[in-house]
Amino acid sequence: MIKSYLLTPGPTPVPPDVLLGMARPIIHHRTPQFQRILQEAEEGLKYVFQTRGEVLIFTSSGTGAMEAAVCNLLSPGDKALAVQGGKFGERWTELCKAYGVEPVVLDVEWGKAASAKDIEQLLSRNKGIKAVLTTLCETSTGVATDIKAIAEVVKKTQAALVVDAISGLGAVECKTDEWGVDVVVAGSQKGLMIPPGLAFASVSEKAWKLAEQSKCPKYYFDFKASRKAMIKTDTPFTPALTLVIGLNEALKIIKQEGLEAAIARHKKMAKAIRDAAAALGLGLFSAAASSDAVTAIKVPEGIDGEKLVKTMRDEYGVGIAGGQSELKGKVFRIASMGYMNQFDIIVAISCLEIVLSRMGYKFELGAGVSAAQKVFLG
Ligand SMILES: *Cc1c(COP(=O)(O)O)cnc(C)c1O
Repeated sequence: MIKSYLLTPGPTPVPPDVLLGMARPIIHHRTPQFQRILQEAEEGLKYVFQTRGEVLIFTSSGTGAMEAAVCNLLSPGDKALAVQGGKFGERWTELCKAYGVEPVVLDVEWGKAASAKDIEQLLSRNKGIKAVLTTLCETSTGVATDIKAIAEVVKKTQAALVVDAISGLGAVECKTDEWGVDVVVAGSQKGLMIPPGLAFASVSEKAWKLAEQSKCPKYYFDFKASRKAMIKTDTPFTPALTLVIGLNEALKIIKQEGLEAAIARHKKMAKAIRDAAAALGLGLFSAAASSDAVTAIKVPEGIDGEKLVKTMRDEYGVGIAGGQSELKGKVFRIASMGYMNQFDIIVAISCLEIVLSRMGYKFELGAGVSAAQKVFLG
């Protein structure tokens, strides 16, 4: 028998109360019964997004809300600064191109974080940039970006700051209003602990002004249509109501723990992973800016990285992620986001040790687990 443990950076494990909520008989969405749930979920989202503004809900994976941010804020021919230091940052550039928006690309070396200074320079050198497209946690490299510092810079310009927080929200700090982030995009299947299928976007006053002028084509992902329905506690189309019910349950769990406590829990889990890696003699891919939501660890010399991930999953039931694109076989990633606690991390490190040992990697068995335990004890 194999028992499964999910430590991938999305989808992430779903709490039993959320699963049970979604297992109830289906209801119709144009009913007071559903409206109550939707309203509660919308309030809960504001808490997690740390905003007083609207948080729009879309039925799609996270990328749908990224696409919505581009096509609702911009017009063909506009310039947008796209920060790309990994697979998800690249998506901003691709989305700009798809809508005829001219991307001004800030290429960041994979494993490094974009600096506010570089963004400031690009903004002053390229007049007329309407949006700065960034990533809170670059899931492909495990990099955390200092959005607060970037917001300080972007705030002073006409540009709107858009943050892909799909993997970071609920796991790491993202103070939408306080920092002055104009659009925060998130997805359901990462820090928010529900299955894939919902996407979210918070929209600031500055972003709404851009939305008024935007000429990119849009229909399903229209911010204005979404807001118009939201005012009546409705949705423009049939919502993935089962997932909204799950969302509402998940938000209750987050509220009960408290966002601060949840973020502290993620910090501790990520530190345990980093300390365990060090104790095993494994290097971090993004050592200088490692995210608390997912940790990318370098595959040691002489070890087949893809086989490592596959063996952990298929023979032990412990799901972690390999490297994407140019990092294939070179890193493996252990998530610490959402419905996870110290013992999920201990399981992952323990399994990693067993498989590394079987593959002939030399280290002191138990060293990683012990390092993680010390973090949780301390
Ligand atoms: C997972 C992820 C996405 C893509 O989300 P989908 O739900 O697969 O569309 C985008 N950005 C980041 C940072 C992610 O982690």
